[in-house]
Formats: sequence, C-alpha cells, structure tokens
Amino acid sequence: MYEIAVIGAGPAGASAALFAAKAGKKTLLIDNDKGMTRRGWFENFYGISEVGGPDLVETGHKQAVKFGAELVAEQAINLTSSGNGFVIETEDGIIYEAKHVILATGALTDLAAKAGVETKDGTEPRIKTVIAVNPEGKTNIEGIWAAGTVAGVSVHAIITAGDGAKVAINVISELNGTRYVDHDVLKA
Ligand SMILES: Cc1cc2nc3c(=O)[nH]c(=O)nc-3n(C[C@H](O)[C@H](O)[C@H](O)COP(=O)(O)OP(=O)(O)OC[C@H]3O[C@@H](n4cnc5c(N)ncnc54)[C@H](O)[C@@H]3O)c2cc1C
Repeated sequence: MYEIAVIGAGPAGASAALFAAKAGKKTLLIDNDKGMTRRGWFENFYGISEVGGPDLVETGHKQAVKFGAELVAEQAINLTSSGNGFVIETEDGIIYEAKHVILATGALTDLAAKAGVETKDGTEPRIKTVIAVNPEGKTNIEGIWAAGTVAGVSVHAIITAGDGAKVAINVISELNGTRYVDHDVLKA
C-alpha cells in the first residue's frame, strides 16, 4: 500500500509527489497527460525567466521520480474507501491502494464527484466546479485531499505548484504526527 497517492501530475500533483517522496513516503503519482499546463508559456513563475509548458511538466515529473515517486501513465476512473485507506482503479483495470489520496486533477472534478467528494462552484475564469477543501486541503472525506486548480486556487502555475507542496506537507505532517519541513542547506 502507498502512503500517499497523487492523482494528476501537473504542477500541483507533481509538486505534491515531489515533497511526499522526498519526505520518504511511499508515493504513487497517476497521470493521463491531459492537463492544461502543457499548453502554456510561462514568464511569471518566480525563479524561472521563461519556460514552455511541456518543459515545466517534464521537469516536475523528473523531480518527483528522482526522489522515489512512482509515476504511472494511467487514467484513474474510480476512487473508493477500503478498510484503512483507499482503492484507486484505473481505466486499464489496475488497482492501487493508498492511505492518503491527493486529488490534483486540474479542471476536472468527475473522479472526485464519483467518489462522493463534495464540490462547489469555482470562482476562477473557465473553472466551473472545484472540490470543497478546508485551508489544509482536506475534503469532506477523511484521507482525501485536493490541491491546485481543482481545489479552487488561482489558476497560475506557481500557485498550483505551491498549493500542491502545501497540501503534501500537511499530509506528511499528519502521517508523522509532527509538523514537517524540508530544508536543504547550501553545501560549503
Ligand atoms: C493556454 C494556457 C496558458 C496558460 N498560461 C499561463 C501563464 O502564462 N502563467 C501561469 O501562471 N499560468 C498559466 N496557465 C495556467 C496554468 O497552466 C495552470 O494554472 C496550472 O498549471 C494548473 O496546474 P494543475 O496541476 O492544477 O492542473 P493541470 O496542469 O491541468 O494538471 C492536472 C493533471 O491531472 C491529470 N488528470 C486529471 N484527471 C485525471 C484522472 N482521472 N486520472 C489521471 N490523471 C488525471 C491531467 O491529465 C493533468 O495532467 C495557462 C493555462 C493555459 C491553458
């Protein structure tokens, strides 16, 4: 069983998976590569002068994988509760189990709604429906969290990436039972 499964590997999901894996959590990252980020050109991402969407997405995937996240090219079609976690079923009939699930599905709330996760009207341009979350990123179902566009944050890559990181840190902290920070120090 995975400790954390992230569904969606745009900036929100890949950032969440990066933090989760770097924290030593057994992390799964599921993505069907139909996100909005690949279509963008970014000149407002702090620390990066300019970058194309495909590069931003692929670098994020590499970072998550570098720290041990298992990235699988699948479409999640069902998310259900099991004894002490969740079962994720993919279009190809593969079953994954995870203790915590972070939904980072961009503009799509279909999987969440099917799973009984509460949604609400979106406020961002062209984002009609989002998942209802508390400030930590928790949904109405204990153990299911949401991050990024699907959680209703401002539709900008740096914000969705930051939101994914924030939610992952909250999940890691809950698993650890103490607040988690990830600070590397410049080598002398
Ligand atoms: C044309 C365009 C230009 C943009 N330009 C800018 C810009 O200049 N600056 C800026 O800051 N922002 C820009 N944006 C917005 C920016 O791309 C988004 O705000 C942000 O990157 C969204 O990140 P996300 O991770 O929330 O969603 P996404 O990047 O959409 O990622 C969601 C991922 O979830 C996957 N997914 C969804 N459902 C499932 C499922 N059931 N199973 C498996 N995978 C699933 C999708 O395939 C996708 O990979 C632009 C957007 C567009 C469309």
